[in-house]
Amino acid sequence: MKQHWIGGEWMGQANKAPINIINPATEEIFEQVLDGSREDADAAVVAANKAFGIWHRMTATSRCELLHEVADRLKAQTEEIARILTLEGGKPLKENIDEVGWCVACFHYYAEIGRSSRGRVIPSVESTQLSMVLKEPYGVVVCIVPYNYPLLLMAWKVAPALAAGNTVIIKPSSITPLSTLALSECFDVLTPGAVNIVTGSGEEIGNALVAHPDTHVVAFTGSTETGRKIAHQCAERFKKVTLELGGKDPFVVCEDSDINVAARAVAWAAYLNAGQVCTSSERIYVQSSVADRFLEALVNFTNTLRLGPGIEPSTDIGPMARDYYRRKVEEHVEEARKMGAVVLAGGRRPAGFQKGYYYEPTVLTNVTHSMKVMSEETFGPVAPVMVYNHFDEAIRLAQGTQYGLGAVLFTRDALKAKTFFEEVKAGSIWINDPLTDNDAGPFGGMKMSGLGRELGLEGLEEFMETKHVHWDFVQHEKPWWFPYKRG
Ligand code: NAD
Repeated sequence: MKQHWIGGEWMGQANKAPINIINPATEEIFEQVLDGSREDADAAVVAANKAFGIWHRMTATSRCELLHEVADRLKAQTEEIARILTLEGGKPLKENIDEVGWCVACFHYYAEIGRSSRGRVIPSVESTQLSMVLKEPYGVVVCIVPYNYPLLLMAWKVAPALAAGNTVIIKPSSITPLSTLALSECFDVLTPGAVNIVTGSGEEIGNALVAHPDTHVVAFTGSTETGRKIAHQCAERFKKVTLELGGKDPFVVCEDSDINVAARAVAWAAYLNAGQVCTSSERIYVQSSVADRFLEALVNFTNTLRLGPGIEPSTDIGPMARDYYRRKVEEHVEEARKMGAVVLAGGRRPAGFQKGYYYEPTVLTNVTHSMKVMSEETFGPVAPVMVYNHFDEAIRLAQGTQYGLGAVLFTRDALKAKTFFEEVKAGSIWINDPLTDNDAGPFGGMKMSGLGRELGLEGLEEFMETKHVHWDFVQHEKPWWFPYKRG
């Protein structure tokens, strides 16, 4: 049984039934973690506030060196951590090796920009005055992370928050807490309490940390539904919150594209991590003149993909993380089928697997926006394809959603590209290369997909408060109309 990691030590008692960690490929319980209580949350808050007193007074250069060391230690453990990620989340090992690599890069990136980006000196209103805009850490940042990229989405919060001088409390998903707990060996180089990890349910631990008067920022990634609850709670205390939420990203294929390349790009964007990616392409729009060729290429490629346990090197697509996520995918596909959609590939659990939460990569056509599979987040390996005639129509269809996380366009026509990125409301636009991340550029959602940004300079500034210091070298009595002469 794994305990919480608080103030640089393992602690916590099993006062209630532990949380079972299940391998999604075998459905077997292979580890347990504590289902934390409000007292555990309180202990983490005390440790993080104590560490803040030391951590934020450290020079940015010293913090930078320590964050580079966290990254170096993580890199040295890549294989082991990737294995844990696969066992708890189901994602193929090769994808998890990438995930660890992206985390390493993220810690190095924020180590550097954390020491070089600060406030500014502005022109003052008096000749004897210096006016400085300072950037300060808030204090304790609560980092709440979902199951699909447990380390990457943790790093996008923890690295900039620490680089800005805050301390953090991580609440990992109850599905995938082990990889985060394993990182305690990397965080061990930091001031004890600069990073704390508390496991447990969102309703109890997550809620206690968000509502706690001595936590100062909440950085959340997860569903729009949970994000709404957290936003309400933060509003009660005017607590700073960043929200990275759900999506229903469009992928528009224009007739001038290389259709085989476009079909493979759609497969990648729709099936990566068994479709459990916030920026998965969940609505595919293809121009009518190339629709048949595109569908044939997509179906042929989809049928070559190998499902299996993520731990096996030959696996292209692993199981979904839990059966209830798979059941939601089944519900969306079944409803679409009943409403007239045609299943061209997949559309069911694969034969030959006794255990594991597998679902076949699926191609649907004849879909409409009145189906859930085209209007609600499916979060599974499904590519519903709709045919359009004119580019204006594609833009209108792409925009037909409450979400605004990402959007992909395949075209070689510069004017179409410009129209697309100007018209489509989404935090990330990918033209001809879906789902690439870049630490130096901001990531986040518009509309119901969230508030605030992670990564880039924006991702650092979310964790800094602004203070304006007006410093006069001469002491003044002011203003001139105040009756100070009376006294
Ligand atoms: P979720 O909302 O169920 O849980 C996310 C985290 O919030 C978990 O750690 C959970 O324990 C915690 N939580 C739940 N209720 C809480 C509460 N009341 N107070 C505080 N914390 C609480 O999401 P999930 O199922 O783990 O992840 C899938 C969702 O995440 C999808 O909707 C996906 O689109 C979204 N996501 C978004 C991004 C992005 O960057 N926009 C990235 C990845 C995933």
